[in-house]
Amino acid sequence: MKKTTGTDRSITSKWRPATQAVRGGTWRSEHGETSEALFLTSGYCYDDAETVAARFAGEQEGMTYSRLQNPTVAMLEERIALMEGAEACRAQATGMAAMTTALLCQLKVGDHVVAAKAAFGSCRWLVDSLLPKFGIETTTIDARINGAWEEAIRPNTKVFFFETPANPTMDIVDMAYVCGLARAHGITTVVDNAFATSALQRPLDFGADVVAYSATKLMDGQGRVLAGAVCGTQQWIDEVLLPFQRNTGPNIAPFNAWVVLKGLETLDMRATRQSENALKVGQFVEGRVPRILHPGLASHPQHELAKKQMKAFGPIFSFILDGGREQAMALLNALELVDISNNIGDSRSLMTHPASTTHHGVGPETRADMGVEEGMLRINIGLEDPDDVIADLDQALTSVGL
Ligand SMILES: *Cc1c(COP(=O)(O)O)cnc(C)c1O
Repeated sequence: MKKTTGTDRSITSKWRPATQAVRGGTWRSEHGETSEALFLTSGYCYDDAETVAARFAGEQEGMTYSRLQNPTVAMLEERIALMEGAEACRAQATGMAAMTTALLCQLKVGDHVVAAKAAFGSCRWLVDSLLPKFGIETTTIDARINGAWEEAIRPNTKVFFFETPANPTMDIVDMAYVCGLARAHGITTVVDNAFATSALQRPLDFGADVVAYSATKLMDGQGRVLAGAVCGTQQWIDEVLLPFQRNTGPNIAPFNAWVVLKGLETLDMRATRQSENALKVGQFVEGRVPRILHPGLASHPQHELAKKQMKAFGPIFSFILDGGREQAMALLNALELVDISNNIGDSRSLMTHPASTTHHGVGPETRADMGVEEGMLRINIGLEDPDDVIADLDQALTSVGL
């Protein structure tokens, strides 16, 4: 294996994001393949016993076992780290493996976590159910209110955890403020960047410590594999995350890592185009529904903040119908082009009813607390011609009397 210029940080850190996305992290075998090789291997062989001993002792570079290193996975990790502006990254099997690992690797009984109340259903479950089970106290707050973060800090607060934009309420968190506050109190910020990705927003640039990902979403972008990643400083990854990851094994499969590597090559282009499409469709939908939550529209109460933090506003937005669950489901059932699907970031336009799907598990009280209403629908705008998506929404909205 030969490392290309793509692994030399003195070169790659000067590349622009689209170049990093195509060439970052690439190694080549003796065959000189253009596309990254897929190493479907669990283990490695050694020329002699001294070599393997040296590798296990950390005295020699090289692979020992795919729970610890794998060349295809290593290429993905270096590429994501570069794009995120992070010193280091470790890939995980899924977005939830990434969130669980990012939190549990640094928390212990007696610690306290402050988290945004508007979050992906499973992220809320981690905060509400899993962490308390291990004696970790948690407080959920309205993350849009800067003062709420400061108010929630206790002497034992170790982590701030949030996503921005949030799934599916599209709440925006003021990253510069919240990360700065955390720094001043020695608190580690963990930002779930699944909705925007590094193509649209880089939390580390605003002072975040750790960025955790569902790479299943925009990074793969074509609805093929589950994947996740955690980025941070080299020291944090080596000393805090790695001991946990190596010994608990939430690792990504090399095949899935390879698929995401291919997805990253077109991330910049897809994120930009899907954001443009979502803005156009959003402008149409805004004229037809009582309420819309789209950070790119002036009607979003945090539009100015979103403009400050994001290069574009992403492919996802939500809207709320007055007719509750019944009208929302009728609209879903009237769709002809847009699929009923709870995935996001896909190149296909997909719509879901969060209260009965992604946020069913958190229960009605938590849904009400975070603003997931019965009449809410969340849409991911894909790469189709936006006029075809608009035509489909037009007929579906008409069919439910809007
Ligand atoms: C989908 C999602 C996750 C979970 O990712 P998986 O890859 O499905 O495990 C976490 N956070 C957010 C914001 C998501 O949208």
